[in-house]
Amino acid sequence: MEYIVNALMIRASDYKDNDKILTLYSLEKGKISSGIKGVKKAGAKLKFASEPFCFAEYVLAEKSGRFTIIGASHLDSFYNLRLDMLKYYCSAVVLETINALVPENEPDAQLFALVIETAKKLNYEKSELITLCRYLLNLIDMLGYKIGTLTCQGCGDFINGRVFFNPQTAEFSCLSCRENGFMEITPETYNALNALNESSGEVFIESASLLKLLRFLFFYLNVTTSTNLKSATSLIDYLKQTI
Ligand SMILES: [Zn+2]
Repeated sequence: MEYIVNALMIRASDYKDNDKILTLYSLEKGKISSGIKGVKKAGAKLKFASEPFCFAEYVLAEKSGRFTIIGASHLDSFYNLRLDMLKYYCSAVVLETINALVPENEPDAQLFALVIETAKKLNYEKSELITLCRYLLNLIDMLGYKIGTLTCQGCGDFINGRVFFNPQTAEFSCLSCRENGFMEITPETYNALNALNESSGEVFIESASLLKLLRFLFFYLNVTTSTNLKSATSLIDYLKQTI
């Protein structure tokens, strides 16, 4: 039986001498594993299809529940993601979150659209950190851990001064309303979240604040999903050197 899927290549591991096992994130079947033969040989026709971030229409042959890729038509290779360090580190976070946090064989058209839109923005546009923060906020929402209202859980006001967050309930609090379970976060993190929340269009946020917001989002993802993302550590290390 043959299937055609629109998919993004998110992970490749070596298999036998010349083959690979690919993890594809597809519109039609969600996340799936598939073998691909001979792609390590020089001049292999489907070599492009085993590159990270290759977006293609893959032709899969299924035999006893296993997929093998027998063809692929290239849609976009998002090539800039391999040329620019910031784009590379940001896109690695997208690949790892899908690889680590999304279950296999569960198609999700909304999440697929988010991933492709994020890849396009990272590849073709500037404001990479804002794109990545928006991606993470949407992903967190789709995984069921939405960060709710940004006003104080006690008095209901917008928070000025010191800000506290409860990672168990995803609520914010001002100093006077703070209860057990709330930890202090930086006002810059809170203000960056507000700025992203207020407008889905272009916003300007200082890079140093975006770094703080990213650390906060990675921390929250770690608490909610118990997953330590290696790509998050690499990105933060890179940003600390460059910002
Ligand atoms: Zn309050």
